[in-house]
Amino acid sequence: MGFVLTDKKLSKNKVFRIEINLSENIPFALSIPQDENVLQINKGVMHGEIDIESLKLELSQKFPININSIDFRINKIQDVVVEFSSELKLDQETIINVLQQTISQELPHTLRNKDTKKPLIYITNDLFGIPLIGSIYFGVIDRGTNLLQIRPITGCPLNCPFCSVDEGPISKTKLRDYIVDTDYLVNTYNSIVAEKKLKEAEAHLDGQGEPMAYPYLPELVQKLHENENTKIVSIQTNGWYLTEQLIDELAEVNLTRINLSINALSSSLSKKLSGKGDYKIEKMLELAEYIANSKISLLIAPLWIPGINDQDIEEIVQFSLKVNSNETKYPTLGIQNYLTHDVGRNLKGIPQKKFAEFNQQLRNIEKKFGAKNLVLKPYMFNIYKTEMIKNPMRINEIVNAEVVLLGRQMGEVIVKAKNRLIHVSNVNQLSLGKKIKVRITRNRHNIFFAEAV
Ligand code: SF4
Repeated sequence: MGFVLTDKKLSKNKVFRIEINLSENIPFALSIPQDENVLQINKGVMHGEIDIESLKLELSQKFPININSIDFRINKIQDVVVEFSSELKLDQETIINVLQQTISQELPHTLRNKDTKKPLIYITNDLFGIPLIGSIYFGVIDRGTNLLQIRPITGCPLNCPFCSVDEGPISKTKLRDYIVDTDYLVNTYNSIVAEKKLKEAEAHLDGQGEPMAYPYLPELVQKLHENENTKIVSIQTNGWYLTEQLIDELAEVNLTRINLSINALSSSLSKKLSGKGDYKIEKMLELAEYIANSKISLLIAPLWIPGINDQDIEEIVQFSLKVNSNETKYPTLGIQNYLTHDVGRNLKGIPQKKFAEFNQQLRNIEKKFGAKNLVLKPYMFNIYKTEMIKNPMRINEIVNAEVVLLGRQMGEVIVKAKNRLIHVSNVNQLSLGKKIKVRITRNRHNIFFAEAV
């Protein structure tokens, strides 16, 4: 039961009381810490705190009748309950609607990413009408093939010392994270699939960070598959959030493939390369085997860092051949070449290999262990070229834009123009909603960078 209704006589006035179990009506874990007047809201990496006094004020203004009191408390089974009292009868359904609506309006202002401890901006269709094309950080990216990159969240729990995008809790450059509403993301994906007239689309969940941190992952996979032109839904992950239960849930909604990064098999090197002292490679290998035995395809994707994990790469190939021998649809290994970056984190003194040399080394490994398809080609994943979606802005074009988000880096804002997002760097603090002119400086695959003019 979600509510209790009683009426009591107080002097001459009848007072109606209704108690709602908030924990049963909000899809988050709720709590009220002792001695604090805040409602804590958690789901996966999302953590929010709403001040209870302001919430009460908001709520009392939303009812058409006079509310005598609103009381938030924890019951015996640690659920959060809210008791309303008023002189007129309150309808349970109306109260639940008002509670849900008010909390979902307040929550985005307070959200933080538990991994990175940074503010987490919840992007919905309502928020300045932010389009989901144009940013490298979130949304949908079309690079002119039947594979569309879906980026639902930024931020990462790991601190890999080679991270090309400087992600994770130790990041020195990232100031905030973003998370995108599931329906809004899927609507954008659907409109791009329609514009490109795709019949065999692959929705590939990736990101500048860890896409598996998205707290609505099974729902997202399911909704992407609801498009009849989606043939594959795949995800890349460092595996930190994997559990047997999540693998079962993702298999249930027909996730096609998991590309899992495993960079070393020894406990000490895997901890070092993940930048996490509590990284457990033994558990990760068990989970890899669990995926290989599920209906989800597994591709193990180690980064080959010359002089650091040469031996591990050979062992990972052997591990993959042992646990993933039944996979016939897709390649089972995606060994990546270590590249150095101007931005991001680099390992000192490790040069990058030329691709010809790297590919030759992969062929040597194929011969040594009887492995197949180590030099990957798009056709092996049924990826092929297609028309790109319309690109509405040219390099050097000056466009009128509106500031819709603070950027992820110091001095960066994100603006919108012509239904695209544009990253504008080196600007002084600009308020949201401000109209500015920008000159497009980079424009590739409908990802835009510009300078303010
Ligand atoms: S898992 Fe990926 S995004 Fe996260 S820190 Fe490592 S390299 Fe960067």
